[in-house]
Amino acid sequence: MNTENVDILIIGAGPSGSVAAGYLQKQGAKIKVVEKQKFPRIVVGESLIPRVMDHYNEAGLFEALDSYGFEKKPGARFIRGKEICIFDFSNKFGEGWDWTWQIPRADFDKAMTDELQRKGVDIAFETEVTNVEFNGTDSITTIKDKNGTFSQIHAKFVIDCSGYGRVLPRILKLESPSKLDPHSAIFTHVKDINRPDGVEGTQISFDIIETEVWLWVIPFSNGNTSVGIVGPTEYIDKLSATGNTEEAIKNAIKLSDFYVKRFDTLPFEFDPIHLKNYSVAVSQFYGEGYALTGNSTEFLDPVFSSGVCFATESGILAAKLALKQINGEEVNWEKEYTEYMKYGIDVFTTYVKEWYTGNLQELFYHQPENPDVKRKICAVLAGYVWNKENTFVAKHHNIIKNMAYMIRENRMDS
Ligand code: FAD
Repeated sequence: MNTENVDILIIGAGPSGSVAAGYLQKQGAKIKVVEKQKFPRIVVGESLIPRVMDHYNEAGLFEALDSYGFEKKPGARFIRGKEICIFDFSNKFGEGWDWTWQIPRADFDKAMTDELQRKGVDIAFETEVTNVEFNGTDSITTIKDKNGTFSQIHAKFVIDCSGYGRVLPRILKLESPSKLDPHSAIFTHVKDINRPDGVEGTQISFDIIETEVWLWVIPFSNGNTSVGIVGPTEYIDKLSATGNTEEAIKNAIKLSDFYVKRFDTLPFEFDPIHLKNYSVAVSQFYGEGYALTGNSTEFLDPVFSSGVCFATESGILAAKLALKQINGEEVNWEKEYTEYMKYGIDVFTTYVKEWYTGNLQELFYHQPENPDVKRKICAVLAGYVWNKENTFVAKHHNIIKNMAYMIRENRMDS
C-alpha cells in the first residue's frame, strides 16, 4: 500500500478544515486535506456571524471569498407575530466585525477549497478516511479513493474536521449525549421570484411560530433563499403524516403569516433535507496526536447561527497548537484548547437553552428597548463570546434568567 508523509493531516474540507488548512499553508507546514465528497455539495449552515471574518482573514481566505459577491449580512431579524426585534452588528458592545455573509454553503465551501488549491494545498476529494491508528503522537491513516484504492498517510498530528462524519469520535469511541433536548430541522432552497425590493428582500429572518418552533429565511445573492423549519423532534415529525419532507416544509411555510405569500407556491430547488436530532457532543476534544474541531466535537443548535463560527474558531486554534507542538514547543491542550473552546460553547449553550425556555425571548421583545442590554446581547450573537467585559458573556448563567423574571414580575404589577 502507498504511504505518504505529512506533518498535519486534516480530515474534511468544510469551514473548519479549510481555515485550518489556510492557516497552516501560510505557515509553511506540510499538510494534506482528505475530503470524502466531491465539491460543490449541499450542506446546512448558511447564516454566518461576524466573528468568522477574523478566522477567514487569519487563514488568508477573506479576500478571495469577498470577491464572490456573497450576500452581506449586517444583522438579523427575529419576528414574533407583530413584534419585531432587529439586531444590527454595528451597534454591538466591544470590538469586532460589523458584518458577515449569508451563503449557499455548496458555493461557499467550493470557493474556499478553490482558493486553497490555488495556494497549493493538497486536497484529495472523493477520498474517505476509513481508519486511523495512533502510536503516541504519530498516526497511520487509511484512506480510500473514488476508485476503491486504499493508501496510507503517516502524520505527526491529525485534525479531525469531519463534521457529522465524526471520524475520530467514532473510531476512538468519544461520542457522548448532548445536554440539549432533541430538536430537528427540515430545509430547502427556493428560487425567490417573489422577493421584495430593498432590505426586506435580503433581510435574514427567524419567524417564531411557537416558543420552541421557528422558521428560517436566508436570502442569497444568487436569487435563491433558504427556508427551514426547526423545532422539537416530535413537532417536526408531525408536520407530515407520511414523513414526506416536501409536505412537511410546505405545511411549515403555511404557519408563517409573515412569509406564507412569498414562499407558498414556489417549487423547491432540491428535495427538502431532514436533519433529525442534530445536537451532538463528545467526551474529549483532543488526545495524543489529534484534536477534534467543529461538528466533530459539539453541535448545539442553529438558532443563533453559531455552528460555522465554532467550526472555524476551533479549526484555526487546533491548527496553531498542532503546529506549535510539532515544532517542539510545549502545548497545554486542556487549558489552551478545551477550556478555551468550552467557555464559548458554554455561553452559547446558555443562550440556546434560554431561547427555548422563552426567557431570552422576553428580553428580545421587551419594550421600551434597553439599548445597553441590546448592544451586549448583539455582541454575543456576533460571536464575541470570549469578551468577559461584556456582562452578558461574563454573567451568562444568571443574567438572562434574572432579567426575564423581573420583566414578568413587572408585567404582573402593572
Ligand atoms: P462540515 O461543514 O460538515 O464539513 C465536514 C466535511 O468532512 C464534509 O465536507 C464531509 O464530507 C467531510 N467528511 C466526513 N466524513 C469524512 C471522512 N470519513 N473522510 C473524509 N472526509 C469526511 N451553522 C451556522 O453557522 N449557521 C447556520 O445558519 C446553521 N444552520 C444550521 C441548521 C441546522 C439544522 C443544523 C443541523 C446545523 C446548522 N449549522 C449552522 C451548523 C453547521 O452546519 C455546522 O456547524 C458546520 O457546517 C460545521 O462545519 P465543519 O467544518 O465542522 O463540518
